[in-house]
Amino acid sequence: MSEILVLVEHVDGEVKKVTLELLTLAKSLGSPSAVWAGPGLTDAATAKLAEYGADKVYNASSQEIVDYVVAPKAELLAQLVSEKSPAGVLVAATAEGKEIAGRLAVKTDSGVITDAVGLSDGFVADQSIFGGGVNVKSKVAKGTPIVAVRPNSTAPVAAAGAGAVEEVAVTVSDAAKAARVVDRVKQEKGARPELTEAAIVVSGGRGVGSADNFSVIEGLADALGAAVGASRAATDAGWYPHQFQVGQTGKTVSPQLYIAAGISGAIQHRAGMQTAKTIIAINKDPEAPIFELADYGIVGDLHQVVPQLTQEVSNR
Ligand code: FAD
Repeated sequence: MSEILVLVEHVDGEVKKVTLELLTLAKSLGSPSAVWAGPGLTDAATAKLAEYGADKVYNASSQEIVDYVVAPKAELLAQLVSEKSPAGVLVAATAEGKEIAGRLAVKTDSGVITDAVGLSDGFVADQSIFGGGVNVKSKVAKGTPIVAVRPNSTAPVAAAGAGAVEEVAVTVSDAAKAARVVDRVKQEKGARPELTEAAIVVSGGRGVGSADNFSVIEGLADALGAAVGASRAATDAGWYPHQFQVGQTGKTVSPQLYIAAGISGAIQHRAGMQTAKTIIAINKDPEAPIFELADYGIVGDLHQVVPQLTQEVSNR
């Protein structure tokens, strides 16, 4: 069966959910090989990768891979593409994943597809383009297909793989050492799921009215086990940190459920959330453009609607 490389996203030795999604996609097309970049592969992580279909786990444990920004990971993948001639390479469509995909495409003289939300036989990708306004089917026409897949576009399904670990020696080139990581600041890990990985996102916009009022949004998010997002109007106003901004210049989310409260639905906000499976909009203006996009709409004051929703969810 044809081998498909999957770049593992991991934090503190733990495999991120998006990697399990990529393995599931890869398994539907061939034989997935997980690529672990940097130190820290544990037996538990290997077992997790195997549980979701990884037949091989390439362990490139050199510290240098994570000492420099992004480029060494692209070099590692390029080396594996040259040595193993895989049928394709999958990475997560995160900021880092997309940069790696682009660099890898240049290094291997291959085509790249970003923001894929599905993948079928022959590496035909469902791709979300023009800021999410249009979905197309795309196929790489040159070299090894490199596809960056959006988190949450596939449900991870356990499917046993052999999980055979193979050590990979990497020499990071001088060119890849152009930008060194000088410090790592750990983002406080709250009780909430990470925004780009969350199955449910509750976002607030200008309609929330103030930083303090964001507790209303957080209340609903916590009742649902969701992540909190915000529109740019809310982050620019300083009501919520910029790292939670959803949209063209913020994060792209693709959750099962997206609740937009007090958000008008500007094109730049849509670009970050319109591939959500189900969208609920809460807005006091029945003409708000967000309702064109929403599967369910509630016309009303979010300060009344959201606490009622929170109460109702908490009662169940
Ligand atoms: P508004 O457009 O002001 O809408 C507020 C909404 O809240 C209104 O629909 C109103 O009816 C409703 N409302 C008010 N009070 C209540 C209430 N009590 N209850 C219920 N509803 C209420 N925006 C992003 O979000 N993300 C981006 O990444 C982003 N990138 C951008 C990049 C560029 C280059 C540019 C030019 C703009 C970008 N923007 C982005 C900004 C974008 O154009 C909009 O200005 C922004 O999304 C508006 O945010 P909003 O919907 O919260 O505010």
